[in-house]
Amino acid sequence: MAVPKQRQTSSRRDRRRKHNIGKIKDVVTVPCNSCKEQKLAHTVCDKCGVYRGTQYKEIVQRAG
Ligand SMILES: [Zn+2]
Repeated sequence: MAVPKQRQTSSRRDRRRKHNIGKIKDVVTVPCNSCKEQKLAHTVCDKCGVYRGTQYKEIVQRAG
């Protein structure tokens, strides 16, 4: 049986999962405190990059 050589980091795991948030059941989503968008619980918000009042990700404003 094939076994992964190395454990995937949580950031790689979450990067993969973020595209499937709508499809996965039993995933806890909460409204973001900053932008009110639905996001995964205990994660940095994908829309505004804020988690518990701290800006973790730079969000580039896209035209259009
Ligand atoms: Zn947000």
